[in-house]
Amino acid sequence: MKIAVFSCKPYDKRTLASYADNTALSMTYFESRLSMETISLVKDFDAVSCFVNDDVNAEVIHLLKQQGVHTIALRCAGFNNVDLDAAKAEGIKVFHVPDYSPTSVAEHAVALIMTLNRKTHRAYHRVKEGNFALEGLLGFNLEGKTVGCIGTGRIGAAFCRIMKGFGCHVLCYDLYPSQALIDQGCQYIPLEELYQKSDIISLHCPLNTSTHHLINKDSLKKMKDGVMIINTSRGALVHAQEAIDSLYNGKIGYLGLDVYEQENKIFFEDMSSHIIQDSVFQLMLTFPNVVVTGHQGYFTIEALNHIAATTVDNLLHHQHEDSGSRQLA
Ligand code: NAD
Repeated sequence: MKIAVFSCKPYDKRTLASYADNTALSMTYFESRLSMETISLVKDFDAVSCFVNDDVNAEVIHLLKQQGVHTIALRCAGFNNVDLDAAKAEGIKVFHVPDYSPTSVAEHAVALIMTLNRKTHRAYHRVKEGNFALEGLLGFNLEGKTVGCIGTGRIGAAFCRIMKGFGCHVLCYDLYPSQALIDQGCQYIPLEELYQKSDIISLHCPLNTSTHHLINKDSLKKMKDGVMIINTSRGALVHAQEAIDSLYNGKIGYLGLDVYEQENKIFFEDMSSHIIQDSVFQLMLTFPNVVVTGHQGYFTIEALNHIAATTVDNLLHHQHEDSGSRQLA
């Protein structure tokens, strides 16, 4: 089976090759994203493998079908960038990797909380310059604080468990409450109440029509002054301009982002010699109480290995049988 692997960085290639070499899979690796601009690369392939920012819209899917592609193997959990209805209509199977190390993303959310709170991003630069003054680095104890978790699936549940370990009071909101989390002392409450009571709010729900711009001027109004917002899920959960307005007036006291709505133009690339043509993003980076990372929540050895192993398994073994939760279409 011939596979065109898109959005493939050297680290992806190394891990994928270690699982795919000496199998029936013949992989061709492309650094570029799959989109209408790059669809011409898909010639004589049976399958494509994509990542979070590939644009697998209905038009792309139609052209994939015309080229004889019968499978799309996503190397990520989220699938908001794939038109699943179009794939179903064209008879193209779509797989994802639903459960690769939820811990990796949950731990990254905690890293953002700890950085913003104890200001290690600022302390690092001060100490390098011989400045050991503490003014401006004051943090707070996490123990006893109220943490709201929106979306308590695999990653959200891992996040809640870690925050319980810090001695936080964990409030949850999900369409499907988890009895296991309730048994661990987490409390499910209506979303409005979570907004009102939380010192820290971390987003772990998927991006869909009901969660698009969930964090906006109206929801922010209901939150505590100085709230900490953490988004490691998908960029468009947060209305970036309205978050900036709330940073200016102090409603948001801390903002930690691993994802950004327009990230597909900048993330995963070295942009250090370019002028980033996104004034909202540039403005966001100027705030001392904002920490942005470039979609690296998943980026641990354990997660990369799990992604590669599952993707190869999806391509090798699940073409003719039901693969349960890994098959989306
Ligand atoms: P999951 O499917 O296990 O959990 C998602 C949870 O959100 C489910 O419990 C679901 O019921 C809940 N949910 C759905 N709609 C909701 C709504 N309107 N309000 C509240 N909850 C809602 O998914 P997961 O594996 O935990 O991943 C969560 C998200 O994390 C993914 O959708 C993806 O966007 C993101 N993610 C980010 C990275 C990264 O590197 N930053 C890596 C993997 C996944």
